[in-house]
Amino acid sequence: MLSEFSLIDKFFKKNAPKNPETRLGIGDDCALLSIPSGYELAITTDTMVEGVHFFSDANPAQLGHKLLAVNLSDLAAMGVKPLAVTLALTLPSIDERWLSEFSEGFLTLAKFYNVDLIGGDTTKGALTLTVQAMGLVPNEQALKRSTAQVGDLIYITGLLGEAGLGLKIKQGYACQSENALIRFHEPMPRIEIGLALRGIASACIDISDGLVGDLGHILNQSGVGACVDFDKLPLSDDVKRYIENTGDEFMPLISGDDYELCFTVPPSKITLVPKNCTAIGIIEKESGLRLKKFGHIQTFTAKGYEHFS
Ligand code: ADP
Ligand code: MG
Repeated sequence: MLSEFSLIDKFFKKNAPKNPETRLGIGDDCALLSIPSGYELAITTDTMVEGVHFFSDANPAQLGHKLLAVNLSDLAAMGVKPLAVTLALTLPSIDERWLSEFSEGFLTLAKFYNVDLIGGDTTKGALTLTVQAMGLVPNEQALKRSTAQVGDLIYITGLLGEAGLGLKIKQGYACQSENALIRFHEPMPRIEIGLALRGIASACIDISDGLVGDLGHILNQSGVGACVDFDKLPLSDDVKRYIENTGDEFMPLISGDDYELCFTVPPSKITLVPKNCTAIGIIEKESGLRLKKFGHIQTFTAKGYEHFS
């Protein structure tokens, strides 16, 4: 049986820290980061619990990827460049094969975004995975939820409802959409777009719990409302077919896990919006979220996924 220390050495201490700001990585009581002058350190954490955030039969490599991706997505949403992460693992037992695949999925994505794994904790208990992610953003340039203005256009990156369709497939809906399954199991955080949106977006959030719920956070925190045009939502042919077959037209609006960015842009800056982003609506003075469909406007009441509800 591996000890905690040899487990860390074997699976998680593979790569030496790459970023010059990482002064000390895994191995001491704390890691050390230096923050360049003129920058702020952005910090976020997200936990995934077996049975709540992932199925018990989840592929460990995909789990490692997704755990890191959902945390990096929070950095992306604020226009932050990822720097380092810590990893807290609670494991029911030491399963070397599981750990090997999990760390492979985790570290491959970390390498892709040049993120240093600088520490963590390892404990015994029900399978629970926590990451804390840290990144750098120039002073005052972080994209927030609270700064959308009336008249700003609302955009989203990529496609909506792909991960939602992936979940429906996992739950038995018959459809062969590789893209939906990949978006569900291995989302890619929109880091590059988040960085490109500094100085352009007036507000930004990542779509983890569904567009309605997450855009709702921007609206509430900015003290504004919005109208979203259903016909402008970027949907794949597979999602369109799903809606035709099931009548479940709200799925792309309320399903989570897409990890696309939803952001607002003042009219003076819309020519600067990066490619692969779609304008889906407009920020309005009247509070609440309205949905325009076939020319009709209806108030949207259904909520995105909420824990403890
Ligand atoms: P302490 O008891 O002082 O908190 P630990 O024995 O928990 O230290 O951890 C020893 C070192 O290994 C620390 O640098 C810690 O950050 C790191 N570490 C522990 N678990 C993990 C993990 N799952 N992934 C990465 N680093 C870890
Ligand atoms: Mg410890």
